[in-house]
Amino acid sequence: MIVDYHMHLRDPDERIDHTVAAVERYVEAAADRGVDEIGFTEHVYYFEQTRHLWDEESMLERCVYDLDRYVGAVVEAKERGLPVKLGLEVDYVAGRERETAEVFAPYPWDYLLGSVHFVDGFGVDQMPGLVEKLGPHEAWRRYFVWLRNAARSGLFDSLSHPDLVKHHGPRPDPETTAWLHEETADAIEAAGVCVEVSAAGLHKPVSELYPDRPLLEACHARGIPITLASDAHVPQDLGRDLDRAVAHARDAGYETVSVFDRRQRRQEPLG
Ligand SMILES: [Zn+2]
Ligand SMILES: [Zn+2]
Repeated sequence: MIVDYHMHLRDPDERIDHTVAAVERYVEAAADRGVDEIGFTEHVYYFEQTRHLWDEESMLERCVYDLDRYVGAVVEAKERGLPVKLGLEVDYVAGRERETAEVFAPYPWDYLLGSVHFVDGFGVDQMPGLVEKLGPHEAWRRYFVWLRNAARSGLFDSLSHPDLVKHHGPRPDPETTAWLHEETADAIEAAGVCVEVSAAGLHKPVSELYPDRPLLEACHARGIPITLASDAHVPQDLGRDLDRAVAHARDAGYETVSVFDRRQRRQEPLG
């Protein structure tokens, strides 16, 4: 089974378009590319209902759309029998776990992705950002502390682009990296969440899949399941390089992929 469980519901020019017509455009693209099931995961900070969770100016500026409208569009498409799932890409904010859970409680999510885009106020995938501010060693150490806390929070079903901190290249020494991978895989296993294998990194300065092969192998060794992602922000990018993400997962030993329905996970054959 081929699934793409990370995409943003936009029109072909990348403007927010939380309508059933927009969902249908993605469903057509999925059919063209042989993707069996897709899940929408709009960024959480676009919704006015989440405004009280954020401090970042860039997030507050975007907090103007209606979460009910987004959920309504995806649910309606689902009720019409289209192969779509309702999700959200949620930024993990330490100390706001209870408020985050309260915002999402009323909605019929199939799954929630947990992301770490900001660490201590610095952008992880920005240039200059966290890595430039703290240097690669401290940036990676702190990023993975946040990711492990996101896993342990109990808020999420899968962790998006789990080593996003490599986004534009600089890395700590191999020993530190190896240790961070192992420690992070331990925490994810204990938390019982999935990790995402994402093709998005191929189109970032680092030009690599997320996560690194050793981290993915460490996850596989611990029985941590995976979800698959293009992270498309327009329908034309749906499924992009998913074949490479599937190959990456297979190389790490994976034979199944996770699918979700109302936050219940089951495993399907990969590919
Ligand atoms: Zn993201
Ligand atoms: Zn995304």
